[in-house]
Amino acid sequence: MNSNKLYSSRTMAVQAGYYMDPHTGAVTPPVYAATTFARDDEYETIYSATYSRYGNPTYDQLETVLAALDGGAGARVFGSGMAAITTFLQTVPAGAHIAAPRIMYHGAQDWLRRLVTERGMDLTLFDAADPKALAAAVRPGETALVWIESPVNPTWDVIDVAAAANVAHAAGAILAVDATVATPVFLRPLELGADMVFHSATKYLNGHSDVLAGVLVSAADDARWAEIGRLRALMGGILGPFEAWLLLRGIRTLHLRVERAAANALAIAQHFENHLKLDAVLYPGLTSHPGHETAKRQMDGGFGAMLSILVRGGAKEARQVATATNLFIPATSLGGVESLIEHRATVEGPDSAVPKNLLRISVGIEDATDLIQDLEAALDTL
Ligand SMILES: *Cc1c(COP(=O)(O)O)cnc(C)c1O
Repeated sequence: MNSNKLYSSRTMAVQAGYYMDPHTGAVTPPVYAATTFARDDEYETIYSATYSRYGNPTYDQLETVLAALDGGAGARVFGSGMAAITTFLQTVPAGAHIAAPRIMYHGAQDWLRRLVTERGMDLTLFDAADPKALAAAVRPGETALVWIESPVNPTWDVIDVAAAANVAHAAGAILAVDATVATPVFLRPLELGADMVFHSATKYLNGHSDVLAGVLVSAADDARWAEIGRLRALMGGILGPFEAWLLLRGIRTLHLRVERAAANALAIAQHFENHLKLDAVLYPGLTSHPGHETAKRQMDGGFGAMLSILVRGGAKEARQVATATNLFIPATSLGGVESLIEHRATVEGPDSAVPKNLLRISVGIEDATDLIQDLEAALDTL
């Protein structure tokens, strides 16, 4: 794998599977299923790792690719997105102050709330739709971490990553960005000043709804990064080699998948923007979206493939639409090649801050006209 940054991230993605076996010429990598690695005649290690909880050639290759895609000093893969998030949050000192969006990926926020009750953390949740809210939420000298997403799940508010990095750094905090939805094809937070990028690789990076995985990419090869490596080995939240291999395969078509899905999402958003059965369509690619200009500035070539619709009425009407579609599958998650539709408030439960009439749509790579007709027919049942 050539991690030389002369190539665009699109080329890097295709080359993710690039591998030339020196003995056979095989152009794709094998799955190194071994959990343990032998020593040589001098009792020196042959490979950099001796046991797969510390390192394995299959996920080491995957990490080289992921570090290159985000332009980081290194990447570490985990057995799920949440394993990556919880391991990373272990590096934030007990009792520290953290700022995060009020509406964000609910699993990560659930964990932040647990840190408040279990480890004495102080948490300020800010309104991601208000560009001034983050600056008001941080406390110079006290805030250790600013955690953001952009676009924010599932309202798709856009946070200015470069501005957030400045606010975090001025307060003495680090900035971590959950870029799962944007993918490294459209958004590279490290280039905008972030210190850490997180992706649920379960979503677009793998892209086929058949692998659970997470990744952290660090801007610096520093003490925190070394500690994350130790924590992963000790807490054991590592990925299996088969999943790493599937991810290497999925990443090869990352840009084709997300570009097609984003084009479909834009077509759907534009078609339904002023629909009589909807109160709103939330998608940063619409010029009417309040975050459109910021998204255009910081994203490269697309606005992602996630959007939400606010159904006229309430939870009942929204759930009716979610069960009336044929093509859109009523399931949670996102980032696969198939389109999904979900009533978010039901999934998040009674504490959810998400509007009750919101349906979250993960747009896939099907034919856009078919998708539009399917959603039209579902709305017609109202
Ligand atoms: C899915 C998701 C996560 C959690 O990742 P898992 O792989 O499910 O553990 C975190 N953030 C976002 C934005 C997600 O969509």
